[in-house]
Amino acid sequence: MRVVVVGAGQAGGWAAKTLHDAGFSGEIVLIGNESHQPYQRPPLSKEILLGEKPPESTYLWPEGLPIHFISGTHVRKIDRVSKSLKLSDQRELPYDKLILATGGRVRRLDIPGAHYLRTIEDAIGLRIALLGRGNVLVVGGGWIGLEAAAAAKSMGCCVTVVEAADRLCGRVMPAIVSDYLKNLHERHGVDIRVNGTLNLHTASTIVVGIGIVPNVELAQEAGLRVENGIRVTRFGVTSDPDILAVGDVANIDGVRLESWANAQNQAISAAKTLAGIETPYQEIPWFWSNQYHVNLQFLGLPKSGQEVVVRGDPTRDKFTMFFLDGPHIAAVVAANNMRELKIARRLMETNTPVDLACLGDESKQLQDLLPRPAAVVQSMIHSIP
Ligand SMILES: Cc1cc2nc3c(=O)[nH]c(=O)nc-3n(C[C@H](O)[C@H](O)[C@H](O)COP(=O)(O)OP(=O)(O)OC[C@H]3O[C@@H](n4cnc5c(N)ncnc54)[C@H](O)[C@@H]3O)c2cc1C
Repeated sequence: MRVVVVGAGQAGGWAAKTLHDAGFSGEIVLIGNESHQPYQRPPLSKEILLGEKPPESTYLWPEGLPIHFISGTHVRKIDRVSKSLKLSDQRELPYDKLILATGGRVRRLDIPGAHYLRTIEDAIGLRIALLGRGNVLVVGGGWIGLEAAAAAKSMGCCVTVVEAADRLCGRVMPAIVSDYLKNLHERHGVDIRVNGTLNLHTASTIVVGIGIVPNVELAQEAGLRVENGIRVTRFGVTSDPDILAVGDVANIDGVRLESWANAQNQAISAAKTLAGIETPYQEIPWFWSNQYHVNLQFLGLPKSGQEVVVRGDPTRDKFTMFFLDGPHIAAVVAANNMRELKIARRLMETNTPVDLACLGDESKQLQDLLPRPAAVVQSMIHSIP
């Protein structure tokens, strides 16, 4: 029995390692088209860009993996009839089960010399450019653009962010969060232009962060079901029972997430299932971002129109915003407040109804809202259909 994992990023790396750790007795082959072993991308726009850590510190397993790992090799085609892969070095590799963890690639603009931020090489190149301390134009006011802007500003550059939409991170965040982000960057001296166009800007360094395109072509050409990513079940299975997909490229129930925790945990569930331990993926989405001295944490998927209770003071960069669905917490955005985020996670996991007045009142302890053991059992009984 041979399992081949295509794509050696966060998801592919974890899929291969989990199969190994779960005692899978067959052969595990991991193939990646980058020259590195699997590495984590979040530090690329944070510690690596700021020069606080070396690029190798992002490797998932610096000591190496006890599996067959093929780097620098692109998988060109899946033949589902013969159950084999065609590789860029002309080899053919048969599989019994296949895991697609092909992630995404940056969306590009026709701007000569522009920097992007997806790989270790991108981060090293951008850091060298930022060390010139010139005028930096960031195109795109999403997470990557804002983290690049914060790093550039911290390195002494003069920074402008141009966002085509009317607010920052507008695709994934309600207006209250966009407003906070705009205020945070303006307080640090970044020129934020929403509803912006690219005309009349001059800059020594241009950074483009306008999202990614999921790498679905292999799956599409093989006839798998693809709709904004490769459609999979909660066990990671695609429309072909012998092929799974995980990470940024996978779409469960119409939702495709691009986050570190999602890539890792989806890969773990899918690999455990392949190893015979059925594990559906059902984590609350979790994401974080570091900008200046602010650590932002996001739990769940906040939506515009939800009632919001703010605890703490956004102007002091320490707060928790609760997005509500009736008396239940549907999502949380916390700044420099990991402790409250952890309590909020428990309230969400136990589906505990909350008193909104207590939620916003800092004189009341948030943990007092947590259910007592008997109440936990009660809420579990109520959630049984
Ligand atoms: C700069 C940056 C900062 C980020 N910061 C955060 C953060 O703070 N918090 C957070 O939660 N998330 C963050 N993310 C997102 C997170 O890193 C991604 O969600 C995660 O890396 C997705 O992992 P993946 O393995 O699914 O895809 P990828 O990381 O894209 O890995 C896929 C790999 O497959 C390879 N591949 C593709 N096609 C083939 C093929 N045909 N043959 C062989 N190899 C192939 C690709 O080259 C790539 O190496 C950040 C991302 C970036 C780029």
